Amino acid sequence: MVNDDRTEIATTDELETDVATDDEKAIAGPNEVYCMDCGQTIKEAAEICPHCGIKQNKLETGDRADSDSTMTARRQYELESIAGKSTLLGALLGLLAPPVGYVYVGKWGWALVNFLTLNYFLLGFILVPLHILRIISDAKGELRIAGIGSY
Ligand SMILES: [Zn+2]
Repeated sequence: MVNDDRTEIATTDELETDVATDDEKAIAGPNEVYCMDCGQTIKEAAEICPHCGIKQNKLETGDRADSDSTMTARRQYELESIAGKSTLLGALLGLLAPPVGYVYVGKWGWALVNFLTLNYFLLGFILVPLHILRIISDAKGELRIAGIGSY
C-alpha cells in the first residue's frame, strides 16, 4: 500500500514537470504558430488551441500582407504626423514658400527638388499647394484604410 502511494506521487510530479516544460517553450517550431489568445505555441494545423480552447482565426494569420497589422509603427508615426498637419497652413506655406511647405509635411525630398527647380520654374505656385493638400489627404486616407485613428 505504502509503495503504491509513493508511485502515484512520483507519477503526478512527473506530469507536472512535463506541463511546466511545455509552458516554457516560447519559440515556435517550424510547424508551430502562436495561439492568438494565450500566446502558447501550438501546431500550425490546430484549429483550436489545446491550452485555452480558443478557436484560431486562420485567415488573419495567413493573409497578413494587406492587413493593418503589417503597418510598421514607424510608417504609422510618419503618416500620423503628416495627417495631423493643418491643411490651411500647408496650402498657405505651399503658396508663399513652397520648399517650406514641403518640409512642413515632412517631404524633404520634394522640398529639395522644388528648391533646385526654382519651384517648377515658377509654375509651382499653383501646383505645390495642391500637392501638399494631396500629401496630407493621402496620409489620412492610408490611416483610414488601416483603421487607425479617426481620420
Ligand atoms: Zn491558447
